[in-house]
Amino acid sequence: MKKIIPAGLLVLALLSAGYALGKGKPTPLAEKRDTPVHTPTFKSGEWVIARGSVHNHTNFSDGCRTPEDLAQQARNEGIAVLAITDHRQGGVCINDKFCPDAGGVGSKGSGYDEYMSALANLADQSQSPIILPGIEVVPYIWNERSPKILVRGDNRHFTVYGITDPKVIAQMPVTRGITTKVQLDPGPEPYNTFINYVRDHGGMVFQAHPNWINPSDYGVGEAHSEAPTMLAAELLRLTGIAPIPEGIFSAGVPGGVWDLALMEYLSGYRSEPLWAWGEADFHCTSSKNPNLTLRTGTTLFYLKDLNRDQVYDAMRNGRMVALMGEVFQEVYVSEFSIGDKPVPNKVMLGERVKLTGAPVIRFGLNQELTLKEVRLIRNGKVIYRGQGSNFEYVDADAARLGIPAYYRVQLIGEGPMEMANASLLYTNPIFVDWTR
Ligand SMILES: [Zn+2]
Ligand SMILES: [Zn+2]
Repeated sequence: MKKIIPAGLLVLALLSAGYALGKGKPTPLAEKRDTPVHTPTFKSGEWVIARGSVHNHTNFSDGCRTPEDLAQQARNEGIAVLAITDHRQGGVCINDKFCPDAGGVGSKGSGYDEYMSALANLADQSQSPIILPGIEVVPYIWNERSPKILVRGDNRHFTVYGITDPKVIAQMPVTRGITTKVQLDPGPEPYNTFINYVRDHGGMVFQAHPNWINPSDYGVGEAHSEAPTMLAAELLRLTGIAPIPEGIFSAGVPGGVWDLALMEYLSGYRSEPLWAWGEADFHCTSSKNPNLTLRTGTTLFYLKDLNRDQVYDAMRNGRMVALMGEVFQEVYVSEFSIGDKPVPNKVMLGERVKLTGAPVIRFGLNQELTLKEVRLIRNGKVIYRGQGSNFEYVDADAARLGIPAYYRVQLIGEGPMEMANASLLYTNPIFVDWTR
């Protein structure tokens, strides 16, 4: 039997699809472990490598943990860097008149102040994990159909870091409103306006879950969007994208949207590279989903010292490795270097080097693994396949062609290629130019 729900509530349900309403009642964390499940930091050469969990929710939006409990959960799991990004949301308007509350941090007048000061307090108290305060934003939604509403853009989510002023968050150029009249697909424009605003205020923006489509039908209205994957190539100041865990079939594959953006950078169309990382998007562990953790997707940060400024520096400069799956949980990249003679720096993630001769690419993990497939990718194409995690490859072809190039490595472990269960590791690229 069909339930009869007032139209206003229906639209509200439609617009808040995927989010719980308002600040929820927290679920206390049951366990406080003395020894973490995994190693939070590794030391390798000059680097401190910190295991990070980014894009996570608390009970300030639709997560179930208080920020304090989430930090304790990070200690339990062996997470050294914890980014908290609750939904920004707030009022969502229909025809600029009816503006129901769609939940999230901005639902109350003091929302952003309260949220940011709670995260600042937590960051002051917590040496480990290092807390990165952030927020998740849906910049723009529109209605593509009448009279039965079809909401688009509801699945285009971006996580923002490095902005702590609640006023800057409150004034973000985002449109959480639709009209009952049909609107056109706006293209990349509102997303670039939003990203430029964040970047101009010193922040960073990462595209979240690039494969998510979030279809739902509420009778009088429907929310259904295409996966926003390809959008990233048109967002020239986007800092990064999350191929792990939800972009493994799109953003992360050789020749996918991440490679497209890196090619744009090589050609000069884009002034900075697009970086990749792994996100957790943790909300809650439930009896239905007991396996959800802060390490659904993991980012390893390569730091000179273990502090927040260094983490931001790693985010801005691509000194990150993205991974998921049990086999990679105690693994880090101990070598990824390129030179035409031996190089002193063993980890050159995100760097740009000039060479004269054929590049020698060296790659290694802290423990040698035999994997389903090891791929060396140059300019979006796989140029070497193997199974041993530690390898050396001389790319005489690239030197002969003399084309600007970037190299990245993808490791695939055994097991099903599913969003929830895959075993994958992605490095960020190293760029090569030639001096002749
Ligand atoms: Zn999201
Ligand atoms: Zn989220």
